[in-house]
Amino acid sequence: MTYKVTLIPGDGTGPEITDAVVRVVAATGVAIEWERVEVGEAAMAKYGTPLPQNVLDSIRKNKVALKGPITTPIGMGFRSVNVALRQELGLYACLRPCKSYVGVRSRYANIDLVVVRENTEDLYAGIEFEPGSEAAKTIRVLSKGKIAESAAISIKPISPEGSRRIVKFAFDYAVKKKRRKVTAVTKANIMKFTDGLFLSVAREVSKEYEGRVEYEERLVDNMCMQLVQKPDLYDVLVLPNLYGDILSDLCAGLIGGLGVAPGANFGENGALFEAVHGSAPKYTGLNKVNPTAIIFSAQLMLEYLGEARAAKNLEMAVASIIKEGRSVTYDLGGSATTSQMADAIIEKLRVPVGAAV
Ligand code: NAD
Repeated sequence: MTYKVTLIPGDGTGPEITDAVVRVVAATGVAIEWERVEVGEAAMAKYGTPLPQNVLDSIRKNKVALKGPITTPIGMGFRSVNVALRQELGLYACLRPCKSYVGVRSRYANIDLVVVRENTEDLYAGIEFEPGSEAAKTIRVLSKGKIAESAAISIKPISPEGSRRIVKFAFDYAVKKKRRKVTAVTKANIMKFTDGLFLSVAREVSKEYEGRVEYEERLVDNMCMQLVQKPDLYDVLVLPNLYGDILSDLCAGLIGGLGVAPGANFGENGALFEAVHGSAPKYTGLNKVNPTAIIFSAQLMLEYLGEARAAKNLEMAVASIIKEGRSVTYDLGGSATTSQMADAIIEKLRVPVGAAV
């Protein structure tokens, strides 16, 4: 069977790592017909929009996409294409497994955490008002003067429906993957309505899984310290959008950095797979960055497509190349280029780990 998958090379170092991952996936033996589309800076220059309609059409049709990172201008220019993609396609769940591999330099070993981040609500909903705007003035009045006249304002929407589906996603994932515990992370002691709502929904949903998956709660500040001090106490974490974004990077740090942290975004009608890291623009065109994160994202994609054996083989091949340490990129202590590391993984897939030679 040949799968049709939308491929978004992205900006900066994105095209280099997507070239690498396409070659590596081909070596797993799974047949994929890639439909290449452009977003971000390249699309902006060509079509005058960073997210052309044909990209959304392609993902809606194929229902699966693999994406390189996209540069988001800070403070001005176009809004985040990543956020727009998640919202347009209803990709409400962001899954970020963080697992230690021998050979990756890190202060920690044996980390095996999964961050489940809500993707569509919270402060990332993009509802912001400039200082002095009519809306800002109205909200200032409603706040009974608590907001300074000069303040810009962001709105943080959290709905019971949005909270329920993400918490359910985390528990269903835990059941499917035989994980032991889900921890809901909020700041409900301060934001009693928004985070409080997320937390009360999490408590309610957890009851449906009693006896199958443990449930506990943490405040986000305490969670950060706990993850640094005793990461082994945690398993699956479920969080609203902003905390999920921040803790994903924290957990990526625990396993040795962004170069090895994969991600996936799921909705009712499809999934988009991408590394946690950004476009690392300073390395553009140098064939230098680590392709592991997008390759592990492709591993999640193969699992999603039902190609469990190919996914496992791919994970073992990458793990073994990292452990050997001869053909790894600079961030893993080596001097291999992006394409040389991909070549080594491809070779390992041809001669699997433990196979007689
Ligand atoms: P970044 O992840 O691009 O880079 C931060 C640093 O991490 C780099 O300087 C590099 O040292 C290291 N790094 C990142 N990826 C690496 C890899 N594969 N191999 C080795 N080292 C790697 O983060 P940033 O500099 O904050 O963001 C750059 C741009 O990417 C911004 O425009 C940002 O908005 C965007 N971004 C996009 C996504 C996405 O598309 N999903 C995610 C995060 C950031």
